Amino acid sequence: MDTIQVTLPNGAIQEVPRGTTPAEVARKISQGLAREALVARANGDLIDLSRPLEQDTSLTILTAKDPDSLQVYRHSAAHLLAAAVLELFPEVKLGIGPPIDSGFFYEFLREQPFTPEDLERIEAKMRELAARDLPNERKLLPKAEAIELYRKWNQGFKCELVEEKAVEPMVSFYTTGKFIDFCRGPHIPDTGRIKAFKLMSVAGAYWKGQEGNPQMQRIYGACFFTKADLDDYLNKLAEAKRRDHRKLGPELDLFSIQEEAGPGLIFWHPKGGLVRKIMEDWSRDEHLRRGYQLVYTPHVMRLDLWKTSGHTNFYTDNMFGPVEVEKADYQLKPMNCPGHILIFKSRLRSYRELPYRVAELGTVYRYERSGVLHGLLRVRGFTQDDAHIFCTREQLEGEIQGCVDFALAVLRTFGFNRFEVELSARDPNDPEHYAGTVDEWEHAEKALTGTLDRMGIPYKYMPGEAVFYGPKIDVKLLDAIGRPWQLSTVQFDFNLPRRFGLEYVGEDGSRHQPVMVHRALWGSVERFFGVLIEHYAGAFPLWLAPVQVAVLPVSGKFSEYAQQVASELKSAGFRAHLDDRNEKLQAKIRDSEIQKIPYMAIVGGKEAEARTVSVRHHGKGDLGPRGLSAFLADLRSESESGATA
Ligand SMILES: [Zn+2]
Ligand SMILES: [Zn+2]
Repeated sequence: MDTIQVTLPNGAIQEVPRGTTPAEVARKISQGLAREALVARANGDLIDLSRPLEQDTSLTILTAKDPDSLQVYRHSAAHLLAAAVLELFPEVKLGIGPPIDSGFFYEFLREQPFTPEDLERIEAKMRELAARDLPNERKLLPKAEAIELYRKWNQGFKCELVEEKAVEPMVSFYTTGKFIDFCRGPHIPDTGRIKAFKLMSVAGAYWKGQEGNPQMQRIYGACFFTKADLDDYLNKLAEAKRRDHRKLGPELDLFSIQEEAGPGLIFWHPKGGLVRKIMEDWSRDEHLRRGYQLVYTPHVMRLDLWKTSGHTNFYTDNMFGPVEVEKADYQLKPMNCPGHILIFKSRLRSYRELPYRVAELGTVYRYERSGVLHGLLRVRGFTQDDAHIFCTREQLEGEIQGCVDFALAVLRTFGFNRFEVELSARDPNDPEHYAGTVDEWEHAEKALTGTLDRMGIPYKYMPGEAVFYGPKIDVKLLDAIGRPWQLSTVQFDFNLPRRFGLEYVGEDGSRHQPVMVHRALWGSVERFFGVLIEHYAGAFPLWLAPVQVAVLPVSGKFSEYAQQVASELKSAGFRAHLDDRNEKLQAKIRDSEIQKIPYMAIVGGKEAEARTVSVRHHGKGDLGPRGLSAFLADLRSESESGATA
């Protein structure tokens, strides 16, 4: 008999007839495996379980336990969607339908838009077809026949795809019910396995992503192996939506973006402005405490300066256009670095002045394309908590340690306890590509790894990820629901000191070039504020809350005592708001809850007599009566403990 050898992952070898399928191999191993099997890996390639093995093969049978099978499973779910749509809307023209991160999509051309009701019907039809356990069958056709098949069916997009993509004389197809797809596969054996899915949305997309092409409707679905995974995903989505800063910003009256002024430009309303003041006060004080000097630099400077820095070469695409003043071109600043360099360069520096650390809450303007703008996270004007350090080589490790320590203090202070660190280094195989000498890079990378090792901070080392002018450390925080956000950066620069001819007089009396480090901790005030809103879902901790206490009189009769409570709170330095509207107490409590004010101090006759307040906490609910001075002391200790790193 003509046989082949099949090598299994545990090293066992099976001698089987040529043409045996992975499904048959699985059955020989165990009935359980045969039931769970979704797809196979043969000599490294994923193939259908029904595909005959023609040669000696190293074979793995994949089940839901193997992450690689999830994409195949989702791709099959996309086919199930197309099959269901064809049952209900036979006139649609088919586009493409790949698996994606959380599920799949398929795109269709249809005159009328798919409505939410359509999605419900389609999803029900998908469940019906899944229950019928239709096989996903693979067929081979000659290219010409394939084109003819789609032409007869009037599927122009598919004809186009076969014309362009089919390279071999035989073209592979998959059928699921009435649906026939020109598709390389592989697929899971049948539709019966697809259980945990949900159609999510419809979005427009140009055919092949090219403007001017017909507008397709993409139906997106979420899809997982288990109902539990799907529910988990849907809950996370709902939670992220609940926390979305673009929704909470206007609801809590923190900020707005106004079409009349232009996209990507932020208006800080009084409450957001108050949070910003608290953030900035903390930042400035902490910079001074840590030996930085605060500076301010112009927003517009000569275009020539940006030629010296090199930004007009490699950064033009991200800059606003120049402005002409008295026949000279001026540039709105996209970065603060050249400004800080000019301050360093304003006179000859001695080694005694180093390390020279200058910090600025520096507002910059960058031309971000309208398609990528996103609330406070991607904007066109923003304020960086930017600093530049000029130091000697010997001072470098100490400075890096100072930056990392400061970054961690920011995280702790603002309520984050989980973070990830990445170190971007040079590509050792491409040393030509970089500014700075090999020796400088080695020294800098050693300073970065040495500091992180000494501080006991785990990090991901990423060779080849550094930009041309120097290695860097990035700190990503993980928020309350585990999402990572890029935050602090400590970036070396071997380029600018040279371009600007920076120098200092060393201990030996001769001139040396300082080492330069760029450093931002929040990244920008806007971005960090957006992250804070989402992390806290708008319920800021006491020390950051724009209104800390709402004083709520039970009725107009007690407004005098309520006023007294509010003014005592204010003179003790707390941000109190007296809600003396002629409304029912319940309505006032509800409004304070919606505004996510940390504390409510409710006052009526009993409280006025005993000089107490009835305390209610946002989230914790009723805390009972408390003497006014004791309440003030509670607030003081909570607020102080929140603001110290
Ligand atoms: Zn396909
Ligand atoms: Zn910089």
